[in-house]
Amino acid sequence: MGTLGSKTTTRGLGQMGVFEVLGTEERACEAHGAYVAKKYRYGWSGCMACLDEAQRLENEQRARQQQADWERARLQNLFNRAAIPPRFEDRSLENYATELDGQAKALRIAKQYADTFDENEGVSLIFCGGVGSGKTHLAIGIAKQIMQGYRSALFMSVMGAVRSVKETWRDSDISERKALQNLIEPDLLILDEVGVQFGSDTEKLILFEIINGRYENRRSTILISNLAMDKLTEYLGERVVDRLREGGGKLVVFDWPSYRKRAA
Ligand SMILES: [Zn+2]
Repeated sequence: MGTLGSKTTTRGLGQMGVFEVLGTEERACEAHGAYVAKKYRYGWSGCMACLDEAQRLENEQRARQQQADWERARLQNLFNRAAIPPRFEDRSLENYATELDGQAKALRIAKQYADTFDENEGVSLIFCGGVGSGKTHLAIGIAKQIMQGYRSALFMSVMGAVRSVKETWRDSDISERKALQNLIEPDLLILDEVGVQFGSDTEKLILFEIINGRYENRRSTILISNLAMDKLTEYLGERVVDRLREGGGKLVVFDWPSYRKRAA
């Protein structure tokens, strides 16, 4: 199978002698049957159908490569925008340890949540319990799984989220609405460290704006808190908790000792 220029170049360069046809011969291609081969100065032409096929395969391969590159870039972009802290980057639903029944149950809920994320639009989760019990690990595992399905996620501490809104009060580069929009837009928002500090009324109001905005736009939120549920309800208020539990939202209590404590 020779490689030839296209028909137009053949015609164009004919006058120069390079593509001058010196003879023809009836030949047979194993795949395509009879064809007329042409003799040029440098050799015989091959089967045009074979050439076309090779070209088609090359185009397909190139398209597949472009698609793969595009998907990789899209995933990378989603991961970058998720802002998962480097120390949690390797956490996934696959490497969550389940030595205790409670851990196994929490993992089951997390997996089911991630698996049904697209169907259960706007359903939220509350993870509460002691420090180091793996709440953040599971939440990040969920985020990573849904991003594989090209859904967007954002990880933020409540402090960071509230600050991003409050900053707009001084800084006019970005409006308060836009700051709120950034927190409402992702398909999944993970709000970490809920209730770490005793929140001022302003902070609670902003937190309500975020959670309510997400609720109204049918976007899912995972709240992570070291507080027990009664304290968390006290902190957030019934209204916010109702929003989060509506439509099948689950509360998962992580009531086992921390990894760190057990390791020590
Ligand atoms: Zn052929």
